[in-house]
Amino acid sequence: MFMILSPRKWAGTVLILAVFLLGTAPDAMAQKVPISFDDYHGYTGTVEYLQAVARAYPNITELLEIGESNMGRTMYVLVISNMRTGTTIDRHIELRNPRRENVQNVTPMKSYHGKPGQWIDGGTHGNEYTGTEVCLYIIDKLVTGYSSDAELKELIDECVFYICPIVNPDGVYNSVEGGNSQRQNSMMNDDDNDGRINEDGPDDLNGDGHITSFRYKDPEGGYVIDDVDPRVMVRLARGAETTKDRYSVVREDRDNDGDGRRGEDSERGIDVNRNFPEGWYGDDNEKAGSGYYAASAPESRAILEFFTNNTNILLVQSFHTSGGFTYRPFARWPDSRIDPKDLAIFDRVMGKKYCQLLGAEYPAEWDEEPAQQRTAQQGMRMRPGGTPPGGTPQQQMRQQRQAPGGQQTARASGGGGGARGYDLPREWTHPYNDTADRPYGYGIFIDWAYAQFGSYSMTTELWNRSKDFPGMPEFTGDDAQAQQARWMINYQDEHNDGAFFVPWQRYRHPDLGDGEIGGWIAQYNSRNNAFPGEALLHVCDIHWQFELFKANLLPHVVITDATAEVLYETNSATEASVTYQGDTATISRGKRMGSYKVVLVTVTIENTGQLATQVARGARLAGNRNDAVWLVGDRDRVTFLQGTAHQSIGVLEGVMPIPGIQSSAPAAGGAGQRQMMMNLPPNIPPQMMQQFMARMGGGQSEAQAGNTREVKWLIAIEGNSPLKVIVTSQRGGTHVKEITLR
Ligand SMILES: [Zn+2]
Repeated sequence: MFMILSPRKWAGTVLILAVFLLGTAPDAMAQKVPISFDDYHGYTGTVEYLQAVARAYPNITELLEIGESNMGRTMYVLVISNMRTGTTIDRHIELRNPRRENVQNVTPMKSYHGKPGQWIDGGTHGNEYTGTEVCLYIIDKLVTGYSSDAELKELIDECVFYICPIVNPDGVYNSVEGGNSQRQNSMMNDDDNDGRINEDGPDDLNGDGHITSFRYKDPEGGYVIDDVDPRVMVRLARGAETTKDRYSVVREDRDNDGDGRRGEDSERGIDVNRNFPEGWYGDDNEKAGSGYYAASAPESRAILEFFTNNTNILLVQSFHTSGGFTYRPFARWPDSRIDPKDLAIFDRVMGKKYCQLLGAEYPAEWDEEPAQQRTAQQGMRMRPGGTPPGGTPQQQMRQQRQAPGGQQTARASGGGGGARGYDLPREWTHPYNDTADRPYGYGIFIDWAYAQFGSYSMTTELWNRSKDFPGMPEFTGDDAQAQQARWMINYQDEHNDGAFFVPWQRYRHPDLGDGEIGGWIAQYNSRNNAFPGEALLHVCDIHWQFELFKANLLPHVVITDATAEVLYETNSATEASVTYQGDTATISRGKRMGSYKVVLVTVTIENTGQLATQVARGARLAGNRNDAVWLVGDRDRVTFLQGTAHQSIGVLEGVMPIPGIQSSAPAAGGAGQRQMMMNLPPNIPPQMMQQFMARMGGGQSEAQAGNTREVKWLIAIEGNSPLKVIVTSQRGGTHVKEITLR
C-alpha cells in the first residue's frame, strides 16, 4: 500500500531521522549539566551532580558505587572514558577461570580496563571539601569538552579517568551540610565512655540552621571586639594588657550530656589518610588516629578493593587543602627508597610543571638537559597542555604578586637535598622530615599508592588563604590579622550578599550565660578551604590544568606493524612434521590431504605515550606484571614452532627522555627472544633457508629496550586460520590487530 504523508508527518519523520543520526556520535548532543562554584556542593549536591552527569553522558561515563560509610552514605566513583572504545585481554584469550558477573568481589573487565588510568579524589578529610569542588570542576571540563575539544576527546577515547570527589562521605556531610568541621570518618564510638554514642556534637542553639560562634564576656578571655568593625573579634597576643572588655569565643555548642564538656562525643572517627597499609602504625589513638588495623575504615577498604580491580591506574591525585602545595611520596620513608627514575619523573617533570603553573620557583637543576637525548622523537605523541606561554592571566597576576617575595626558602622537611642534589621547593615537596630523619605520618594513601600499587601518586594541599585569595592584599603590622578578618567579612558582603556571616545577636547560653551568637557560618570561615566563587574557581582551574598535563603523560601501547609471511607451503601432504626445540610436532588431521604453511609473523609494538608503562618498581610489585603480547589463531590449526603464544616484552619505556637519567639498560624481554630464534625447523627447504635466515635477522635478535619491541613467531598453519595479535599492558592499554597472510 502506498502511503501519502502530509507535510506535517514528513517534518516529524525528518526530525526523528536527524535525532537518530546525531545520536550516533557519543554524547555529542548531551545536555550540559549546569554547575556553579558559588557555593560548596557538600555530599548531597555532589551526589546529585554525579547522577545528573551519568544520565546526561551515558556513552562516556559510568557512575560506580564503590563502598558505604559507617553512617550508610554511598561512596561514588565517576568513570570517564569512551565506553565504546577499548578492549581487554579476556575478550581475546580464553581464560581458564572466566570472571563472572555474579561474583561479588571481582569486577568483570570493562573496556576501560584496557586503557591507562588516572585516579583523582577529594574529601578524604571531611573538612577539606575544596578538593571535592576541584573534582567536580574537572568532571565538568572533561564531559563538556568531549564534543568540542580534540585533545580532550583523544584523552577520553584512549584513557580512563576515575574521579572520586568524596572519599569520606560522612566527614564531608558533617562539615558542609552540618557545619561541624570533621576531618575524620564517622564511627559509632562512645568517645567519652559514658555508655552513650555520638550524643554530644555541636548544636545549632538558636535554630537558624547554621553552626556559628558564641561570644561572651570573660575576664580570662583571649579576644576583644574590633574598634573598626565590631563584627570582628581580635585575638590578643599572649600576655597582652587591655582596657577593653575581654571575650571568649567558642563554637555554637552546648553540653548535651551534662558531663561539663561540650562537643566531646560527636561522630568523629578515625583519620582515613592514616589507615592505608604502607607503613601503617597503630597509634593507640582510635578516636582520631590510624584505626585498629590497616584498612579498618570502610573508606580506605573500598579504595583498596577498587584499585585491586582497576590495576590500570598509573596516576593518582588526592586533593586535600591545607597550605597551597603538593607533596609526593614518601611520608613514611626517606627519598633513598624511591628509584632515581621515579624521583626524576616526580620532581623534574611533574614538580616542575606544578611550580610553573603556580608561578613558583623551582631548583635550577630541573631545567638541565636530559643526560642523553633519545633519537626516537619522531613517533612522539605530544598532547601539549592548555597553558599559553607565560601562563594564564591568573598565573601572571600571581607571579607579579609573588615577585617582591623573592627567593623561595626550603621548608624544614625539604632540607638534606644531598642525595637528590637539590632542595625541594615549598610548593613541591615531600612530607618526610629529612633533617630529623623522621616520618611525617604512617599509613598514608599516596605512600601505599606508590610503594605497593605502583602509581605516580601525590597529594595537593589546595589552599593557602593568604597567598591564593585573588585580590587579597598583603596585610602587615600588628593588626594584620584583624585587617584580614575585616577584608574577608567585607568581601562576602560585596560578593555573597553577606550570606556567609551572621550578625551577632543576644543569646542566653544554657551553660555559659549571656552572650551573642553570630560570626562566620562554620563552613565558610575554614582556613582550609577556598572561598566560594572567584577564589574557588581560580584554584579549580590551576589544578585542572595540572591534571590535564599529567593525563597527557600517560603511556599508550600500540601495535604499529604486524605481518605474516608464508615461508613454505605445500598443498599435497597428508601431514607435515616440523621440529621445535628438539621435539617433533606433527601437524596433521587424519588422512585427508591438507595444505600446510610455515609462517613468519613479525610484530612491532610501540609505546607512543610519554611515560613508561610502569613506575620503576612497578612490574616487581605483587599484582603487577610486564607488558605482554599474544599471537592468537585457531587452536586446532596453528602449531607454534618458535615462540609461544604468549611473550613477555618487559616494561615499555615512554618516548619522553627522563631528565637527569641516562637512557635505559636492555629490558628483560630480549633473552628469550634470542633463544627462540636459534632453533630453526629442519624441514625448511634448503633453497628457502637463506631467505628464512635473513627474515629472522640472521638468527640473532639483540636484547630490546626503549619504547619499541619487535617480536617474531614461526608457526605452522594447517589450511587457514585467522590470526590476530594482542598487546596488553597493565597500565599502557590493550591493542589488537588482525593479520592477513601474504
Ligand atoms: Zn587532609
